[in-house]
Amino acid sequence: PPLIRARGLDKLYPDGRVHALKGVDLTVPRGQRLAIVGPSGGGKSTLLNLLGALDSPTRGTIELDGQPLDATNLDAIRARRIGFVFQSFHLLPTLTALENVQIPLFETLNDRRRRVAKARDLLEQVGLADRANALPGQLSSGERQRVALARALVNDPCLILADEPTGNLDSANAELVLSILESLVRERRATLVVVTHDLEIAARFERIVTLRDGRLVADQTRGQSDSPF
Ligand code: ADP
Ligand code: ADP
Repeated sequence: PPLIRARGLDKLYPDGRVHALKGVDLTVPRGQRLAIVGPSGGGKSTLLNLLGALDSPTRGTIELDGQPLDATNLDAIRARRIGFVFQSFHLLPTLTALENVQIPLFETLNDRRRRVAKARDLLEQVGLADRANALPGQLSSGERQRVALARALVNDPCLILADEPTGNLDSANAELVLSILESLVRERRATLVVVTHDLEIAARFERIVTLRDGRLVADQTRGQSDSPF
């Protein structure tokens, strides 16, 4: 099966006034790297949150690797199979970089020494081996996002979701974070979905999906020509 098969996704927020997604269908093959673009308020974060099992659709279904997501398995699937990267990093401020990276491993690895070794390995892969004992407040924005990348990848998820991962970074750090993210994803043959409003960033990806007013209005794969661009 494809890694993601989403069908007929609708999302109404509880107050019922916002219809954030309207009949969205999306199939993503294993190993694909795609960007979701579109104007602010178009539903990009909402879709990413549904794909990441952070929230449930009002209507429609999502299968991850053939397995339907439902209310009973969201937490387990998220912990084991999905890595999430946020615009505002979402590190725990009282934990060191090394401790933040270990957070997902508490679900999956009982042996403390193996957790620490795995987290150190990931910090090294993002170029932060020497910052392991720093608190988030002692790190630059770019360094914080690299810690967040390490945390997202430490469980070897098959799916990595990133919501405006460079939105709080200057252009040099944005480039560094993106290139590290891309190389980590490629090495693992993982699937990557990135939300961005930046078309220059989107153009790095092999597929670009456009959401507008909650509808999927364009789906462009490099080398094919159903493109509005
Ligand atoms: P985008 O990521 O494309 O900017 P969002 O998915 O964040 O779009 O938002 C889509 C719509 O849903 C917007 O109108 C937004 O205000 C609304 N929305 C998002 N999250 C919530 C929420 N938790 N409660 C109510 N409305 C929300
Ligand atoms: P990050 O920067 O970490 O991606 P944000 O700071 O953009 O996250 O915050 C996104 C959060 O705000 C989400 O939980 C989303 O559901 C919520 N949100 C967005 N728009 C609205 C809205 N109109 N009403 C209520 N909550 C909203």
